[in-house]
Amino acid sequence: GYRSRAAYKLKQLDDLENVISGGDTVVDLGAAPGGWLEVAAERVGPQGRVIGVDLQRIKDLEMPGGTDRIETIRGDMTEDRTRDRVTDAAAGSVDVVVSDMAPNMSGEYSLDQARSLHLARQAFETALDLLDSGGNFLVKVFDGPDVDALRADLEGEFQYVRATAPDASRESSSELYFIAKGRLTGPVREGD
Ligand code: SAM
Repeated sequence: GYRSRAAYKLKQLDDLENVISGGDTVVDLGAAPGGWLEVAAERVGPQGRVIGVDLQRIKDLEMPGGTDRIETIRGDMTEDRTRDRVTDAAAGSVDVVVSDMAPNMSGEYSLDQARSLHLARQAFETALDLLDSGGNFLVKVFDGPDVDALRADLEGEFQYVRATAPDASRESSSELYFIAKGRLTGPVREGD
């Protein structure tokens, strides 16, 4: 079994759209407790790498074949210094950025939705900083105001964008995932 029920959402999303391939380098934002990390590590295989980031500490994972391909970072993705640490850990080419980041729930939907959208925007910025040309981006957001604008911005940067609510997340009907495939250009790196 996996460390979180969320793991099954990534499985469904990846089965649907082939976001992750063998040998990929994947950056997983909002990765605790680590279910998506387990699924991503399986799917990249022994030649791939997965870097997980979360505000919470991610307890050491155990996997058949070992966990050398997994690295975890504790930090806040809204802070530049965390984003810099992720860039350093990736050390070059990144094929996939996934974000399951979600705010602490206040119970007031409009507030939680705005915070979720902010986290999705942060993830999008990180994806633009890191992803190679052709790379894929998967991001969770609570449905509501300005989600259409996010979609339009994704469509400006990727070949193909689809929104979906995986069965495994039906209980919270407001949650949707954008799958954006095939980044149109690569990041501008120093020295390019
Ligand atoms: N995908 C994970 C799994 O399979 O185990 C579950 C992720 S959980 C739904 C959302 C996570 O987003 C929480 O662990 C939370 O700490 C994290 N998060 C929220 N805001 C964050 C931020 N600013 N920076 C990093 N992580 C954040």
